[in-house]
Amino acid sequence: MTDITIALSGNPNSGKTSMFNNLTGAHQKVGNWPGVTVEKKEGHCKYKKHNINVVDLPGTYSLTPFSIEEIVTRDFIIKEKPDVVVSIIDSSNLERSLYLAMQIMETGQPMVLALNMTDVAKSKGIKIDAEKLSALLDIPVVSTVGNKNKGTNRLIAAVIKEVEAFSLEKTGRDIKYSKEVENCISLIIDHLQQNTPDNNIFSYRWTAVKLLENDELILKNLQENQSVLEMSAKVRQRIKDFYQEDPEIVLTEDRYGFIAGITKEVISHSNKKRVDISKNIDLVLTNRLLGFPIFIFFIWAMFQLTFTLGAYPMEWLDSGITVFSLFLGKILPGGLLKDLLIDGIIAGIGSVIIFLPNILILFFCIALFEDTGYMARSAFLMDRIMHMIGLHGKSFIPMLMGFGCSIPAVMATRTLESKKDRILTILIIPFMSCSAKLPVYIVLAGTFFAANAGTVIFCLYLIGIALAIISGRIFKSKLLKGEDSPFVMELPPYRMPMIKSLIVHMWDRSKMFLKKMGGVILIGSIIIWTLSYFPKNITYSMDYENKIAQLKVEYSQKTDLPNHVEKFENKIANLQRQKEKERIEKTYIGKIGKAIEPVFQPLGIDWRASVAIVTGIVAKEVVVSTMGILYGVGDQKSEALSKALQSSDMTPLSAISLMLFVLLYLPCIAALFSIWKETSAQWALFNLFYTTTVAWCVSFLVYQTGRILGFG
Ligand code: GDP
Repeated sequence: MTDITIALSGNPNSGKTSMFNNLTGAHQKVGNWPGVTVEKKEGHCKYKKHNINVVDLPGTYSLTPFSIEEIVTRDFIIKEKPDVVVSIIDSSNLERSLYLAMQIMETGQPMVLALNMTDVAKSKGIKIDAEKLSALLDIPVVSTVGNKNKGTNRLIAAVIKEVEAFSLEKTGRDIKYSKEVENCISLIIDHLQQNTPDNNIFSYRWTAVKLLENDELILKNLQENQSVLEMSAKVRQRIKDFYQEDPEIVLTEDRYGFIAGITKEVISHSNKKRVDISKNIDLVLTNRLLGFPIFIFFIWAMFQLTFTLGAYPMEWLDSGITVFSLFLGKILPGGLLKDLLIDGIIAGIGSVIIFLPNILILFFCIALFEDTGYMARSAFLMDRIMHMIGLHGKSFIPMLMGFGCSIPAVMATRTLESKKDRILTILIIPFMSCSAKLPVYIVLAGTFFAANAGTVIFCLYLIGIALAIISGRIFKSKLLKGEDSPFVMELPPYRMPMIKSLIVHMWDRSKMFLKKMGGVILIGSIIIWTLSYFPKNITYSMDYENKIAQLKVEYSQKTDLPNHVEKFENKIANLQRQKEKERIEKTYIGKIGKAIEPVFQPLGIDWRASVAIVTGIVAKEVVVSTMGILYGVGDQKSEALSKALQSSDMTPLSAISLMLFVLLYLPCIAALFSIWKETSAQWALFNLFYTTTVAWCVSFLVYQTGRILGFG
């Protein structure tokens, strides 16, 4: 048995994940790269007598240390030195894929090229001569189709052969730069060999190339070695004088020249007339006039689907929970534990878990956008609008992901090259309606705007986007001044989504929602319930029990009145409700609510919803579970939250105000924490204050204006 570690590298969307799954099947483990929050996936498989560990490197376009993904990838290759790096090539985009592959080749590490997406290339009429490519580069090349698991075994065989046959001395796997550059590289190599202790240098040629490029990390590593730094500065100057360009540019151009030469040799276009389906689809979907309305329509359709289709399973779950809770009510002996279980835990978790179907649908739609390639188009369509706030359309992708959850969205900003863009994008992501806010909307919009709930929710999402854009504009002109970064947007081809991949994506993200059920939402529910249950010895403003007893007597005497059963039951229920209302107002939670109520009163938000807002800081789903406990307790217990809300003092106007507040106020603790990690404590604090202030002001304006206009 030998242990072999292979690392998968490649551009985003080249099929890395598919290949990783093909290689490792179910044997996967997901963690983080040390020190940074980039996801690290590892897995293993067995092949003949070999034990193979597979590490999935982050998707990148280059190995220059600009983004965190690039640094992680590079560090792994040059420090951990995997036995083989498998470079996944998108065959339909050979030139771009080779740019990364060639930089990996330059590190001198053993490698294999996987020519993936050969089917896509073929459909575009592109034919790649794999043997010739392998011969030109002296690197093994294997053709694969990742989503159909084709070529995986041949890939493993090639990897093992590479491990066994690789020898450092033998490989001449270098990019041939122009003559002057090669001379300079040789000069630096000579100098390095004489002036650095051997074991300090990863590879002389590679280090020399990086020194020519003024690579920050390499310069930092060699900062003690003054003579090397002076020497490389001198050589850089020589290139500058010779080409009248920065050495970085000269080297990049040389690399592209080298790659262009190779692709010319190995690619042949078939004669049959190319019908580029993607181009045709794009004629419509990214059309100047039609593109934007179609985009808005897709987003609107997504919410309609989420709401209308999701309503059925939601009802089933809801009735299931009611039945379950009635059943428990019958079989359990009365007492504290029973109350905690039914009114605390089940009421709290139950009021949130019924949204699982909606959230599954939402995530399914987002996965569909991603997998078909439409997500990139949306960035393209939003490009002009994003430029208004000094951001590139590329920043819109993290924003769209924010519809799912702010945490991965904040992380997705790492693909942005400029630090300012990253901070700016992160600061506006919390205004995107994450999936945790959805239950709040569904409850409130469903209760108060039943017929138009989907449209109301859609408008909330739009308001979030609009405020994000306005805030971005303000930040850009006041806090984060600077030039727009130039960037060419890549539009990947449209792909038929694979149902399996859609489901995996959807499930991966929904799992987080379920995890919260057992975590923050459970704990939150128990705390809220406890605070709303104690103290027990409450003195009421009147003797309710006596009054109810009186009513009962009256009832037995006046049996001749019409509808007397109904009237009597209503009266008793009203009294019980009144009593419960008074009780809860006198509990701890009532006192807390009353204390913070003045802050929210001008927004038309009562004390119970105020408490829900505060508890929602932990996770926005908790807003609903808190309301489930507080309003549920105030009314007949088996009634659904929405009925309870209808009979409370809440009006459609105050519901809008509450939804706007929930949309805009600070993101949950976890999101705030990830903002902190990705930017700094100051920015996280700033975000907290900014979002909450905006939330208050917007709700205030809307509520007060509404009242003046007579909607109160
Ligand atoms: P990653 O971003 O590099 O991890 O790429 P994924 O593995 O997620 O693949 C992106 C999309 O391309 C998914 O929808 C895959 O099903 C699809 N895909 C992967 N490999 C191939 C392939 O060889 N041919 C085709 N047609 N699609 C592929």
